Amino acid sequence: MSPETAVRVIDALDEGLSEINRIRVHLYGGEPFINLPAIEAMVKRAGDKKPGRIGFVVTTNGTILSDAVIDLLEAGKFDIVLSIDGPAEVHDACRKRVDGSPTHRDVMRFLETVRSRTSCYVTGAAVIRSGWRLLYASEYLRTLPIDNVKAQAVRLAAGTPYALTEEDMKLYQQDLEAIGRQVIKELEAEKVPMDRRFAGRVMKLLIKGEGLMRYCDAGKSNLGITPSGVVKACLLVDEEDAVLGHVNDDVEVWKQAGLKWQERPLRKKCTSCSYLQLCGGGCPAVVPVCGDEECKIVHKECDVANVIYEHFSDKQENLLGLVGIV
Ligand code: SF4
Ligand code: SF4
Repeated sequence: MSPETAVRVIDALDEGLSEINRIRVHLYGGEPFINLPAIEAMVKRAGDKKPGRIGFVVTTNGTILSDAVIDLLEAGKFDIVLSIDGPAEVHDACRKRVDGSPTHRDVMRFLETVRSRTSCYVTGAAVIRSGWRLLYASEYLRTLPIDNVKAQAVRLAAGTPYALTEEDMKLYQQDLEAIGRQVIKELEAEKVPMDRRFAGRVMKLLIKGEGLMRYCDAGKSNLGITPSGVVKACLLVDEEDAVLGHVNDDVEVWKQAGLKWQERPLRKKCTSCSYLQLCGGGCPAVVPVCGDEECKIVHKECDVANVIYEHFSDKQENLLGLVGIV
């Protein structure tokens, strides 16, 4: 993305989403810090808007560390999603530089520097692959100086390298139950849980919302913008009609196209699914790739969300810890 397009992205979102109070720009895909000029341009332009209106999130592999990166993170008050799969032997098995050298040590150095020189909120994000358990990743991340734990199964079609096998999936589901128990303990202690994966579903149960709340808000409150400025309903969706326009278009062009995309009917399988109310139809980018395997994870997450909700039936105020209120 050129700095000019980066500036236009900020202007287009600011102009186009006037009815929305806060806009979060999440930089991800590849490694964002290989393009510092575009990020600098965005942060600078966001500084010209109403204070607090535009916030930033970055997903990074933590391998590019310089004074410029750290200063930018602090200037933009970034939320950082830092990829850390596990201890060195687990992380380095997949996350290598082009020359084959390992990166875990660089990531730890990045984390230490972010902690000592910025006030950024840090999420440690692990990808769970075949042979590497969710619970182990979660326990490892909890030993690090981070604010939030995010560990999720790799989204690949069953049978492909790294995809969870049937045995891995059983362990993954067991581990979701264990994480649910951990969340209950934290909520009982009136703490904000480090793992927030159940928050959305528990909140749905709490507000007893009528009608269907879709899982995916692409096109409505989530938009994807490519490096050349093409606006999509979501960057992860490949379908042709997910292209909504361009940041240089009149904002109404992509806003209206986004609302139309959002109205697409649910998949037939979802309309007859007993988990629909709590699932909301899943992620249109993941479900076509992972199919039933994704639904198995969703079912377990919904079941665990129900257990958490029921556990606090007499003291529902404790559940607010899931959304950071204690
Ligand atoms: S669990 Fe699967 S089938 Fe059921 S609503 Fe969600 S995505 Fe659709
Ligand atoms: S398609 Fe998936 S990743 Fe994209 S906004 Fe929807 S739920 Fe999120």
